[in-house]
Amino acid sequence: MATSTTEPATPRLDQAAALRALAFVLTLGVFLVDVLTPLEGAVAVLYVIVILVAARISLPDLLAASAASVALTALAYVVMHGFGHVGSPTLRVLASFSAIGIATLLAIQNRKATARLREQAQLLDLSHDMIFVRDAQGVIRFWNSGAENCYGWTSEEAVGRVADDLLATEYPTSRDEIEAELLRTGRWEGMLRQRTRSGATIIVESRWVLQRSGPGQPDRVLETHRDVTEREASHMALAQSERRFRRIFDASRVGLLQEDWSALRAELKRRIADGETDLPGQIERDPDFVARAKALVTITDVNAAFLEIAGADSPARFAGSLDTVLSEADQTFAASLIAFCRGDRFFEGETEIRAAGGRRVPVIFGLTFPDADESMDGEVLAFVVDVTERNNAQHALMAAQAELAHAARVATLGELTASITHEVNQPLAAIVTNGEAALRWLRRKEPDLEEVSTALTRAIDEGKRASAIVGRIRSFLKKGPIRRDLLDVSELVQDAMLLVERQLMTSGVTLRLAIDPKLPTIVGDRVQLQQVLVNLAVNGAQAMLATGGGSLSVQACAEGPEHIRISVQDSGPGISQEDAARLFEPFFTTKQDGMGMGLAICRSTVEAHGGQLSVESEPGEGARFTFTLPAAPTESQDDPARQQRLEG
Ligand code: ADP
Repeated sequence: MATSTTEPATPRLDQAAALRALAFVLTLGVFLVDVLTPLEGAVAVLYVIVILVAARISLPDLLAASAASVALTALAYVVMHGFGHVGSPTLRVLASFSAIGIATLLAIQNRKATARLREQAQLLDLSHDMIFVRDAQGVIRFWNSGAENCYGWTSEEAVGRVADDLLATEYPTSRDEIEAELLRTGRWEGMLRQRTRSGATIIVESRWVLQRSGPGQPDRVLETHRDVTEREASHMALAQSERRFRRIFDASRVGLLQEDWSALRAELKRRIADGETDLPGQIERDPDFVARAKALVTITDVNAAFLEIAGADSPARFAGSLDTVLSEADQTFAASLIAFCRGDRFFEGETEIRAAGGRRVPVIFGLTFPDADESMDGEVLAFVVDVTERNNAQHALMAAQAELAHAARVATLGELTASITHEVNQPLAAIVTNGEAALRWLRRKEPDLEEVSTALTRAIDEGKRASAIVGRIRSFLKKGPIRRDLLDVSELVQDAMLLVERQLMTSGVTLRLAIDPKLPTIVGDRVQLQQVLVNLAVNGAQAMLATGGGSLSVQACAEGPEHIRISVQDSGPGISQEDAARLFEPFFTTKQDGMGMGLAICRSTVEAHGGQLSVESEPGEGARFTFTLPAAPTESQDDPARQQRLEG
């Protein structure tokens, strides 16, 4: 153990032997002086010195020295004065006895006190804290083993040195202020920076207690230090990471929300405790539960970028539940709740948020759930990106594509009309000329039947030529080269509907899609088939314009093992039986600016793909256009070689 500032501990063996020898010599000396010199004094009182020396060795040595001193004092008295003589020598001897006795008692008490102090010092050594005692000048008087271990100096090295110099202590405020507080209150606490023997700088939590030797007299200071370098370092790292997070949160150009999901977690747990075994199922079935759950999520912070997206001035507008952010049309919360229940770390989706002035802003968002650690439920982060511009651009693109599809159709029809006009006009003109000539030959007083016959034969020939031209155009239309790609029906339908989505929306039409997910693929020309779908959908929307909107439902399902069936049904006025009979004829239209070629082309496209297009309609009940297409032969579904052949 370390050295104490009080009494020396039991001396080492060689020291003890030296002290014993000294005690013996002193004893002998005092006895000889007592016996041999005629001094009239209490020489035996000098045995007190022997006792003080023996007291430094051990208790038995002390008692032995004390007994020997008494015995030798008595022996000297008897030798010098004999028995029975009572006088001043007797008084001197008694005084010597008393002195020896008192010295022994004091020495015993002193040893006990020393032992007690040593015990206390040993207790201080048990502490892992660094404890030292210094005097008013700062000189170290006691240094425990905790201080030895941490600072690196042994007790022998530290005791006697000035603490501040040894440890290069740096104080949080001026040393004088600290000393003044210590004197005033008797204690001081604070954080210090010190240096160890190896040169490392450590941070210590320090407590000082002042011990006074008399009223107002500072004597010793007990300093207890705890090494908190690591704790401080991790605190600082934490604080730094918190500051970094704050900076990112505040400066991020992505909208950020911090949300607290802990009340929601508690509610979910309560439900599980109440016996609910299928939370995801309940979330899907019970919209009221989802609404209540949403109200349990609170927003704790939002950043500037989010305020900008929402057009808000202050975060106070969002100090409440998620309801203040998500629009009532939001469909994503239930899905995010299921992800949360499942223990997912991340969820992303697309929704609309409530912005200032009742606006709705379309956003894509990501939610990060910290992890299974429930104490982090208060720190769910949502990343929000405004996609208004992206959506606008997308819609503009789609409108442009739809227009392009329409323009392509109109262009085809325009070319067609021009060529029909050009090719058919000639024979028609010839028919008319020949007809008129025949009439003229007939109206003569003497009709020239020969000429009439020639003119009529020419007219008939021209008529046949016109018919042949029309036939050629029709067959051209039918046999236009089509691509033969493997197509996924669901993709085909969805892509086509994306093209008309915007037009349907502006016509007040709700679109419903019902596509059997297990449909076989088909073989055909993506663009042409999409034009069929676009045509049917646009016709439906135009028909519903009269009723100010309605619903358009597109269904795709299997038709037997080898075909698929796609139908486009509207809730418009429907088609009269009379019109229905002519609907697919080229140039049949009831629209002012209609060309009447859409359905004719649709039918020829579907037929060119090996399918059939038909219509059913009850007037007033809307119309349903249905077409079938053959499924791709099964061996071709996963065969790239076959795909290549198809494309070739
Ligand atoms: P256009 O659209 O140029 O008139 P179409 O061949 O596409 O040419 O259509 C022919 C006619 O069929 C339309 O003018 C309309 O009278 C009728 N028609 C087509 N689709 C529908 C529908 N969904 N509901 C009612 N009538 C329809």
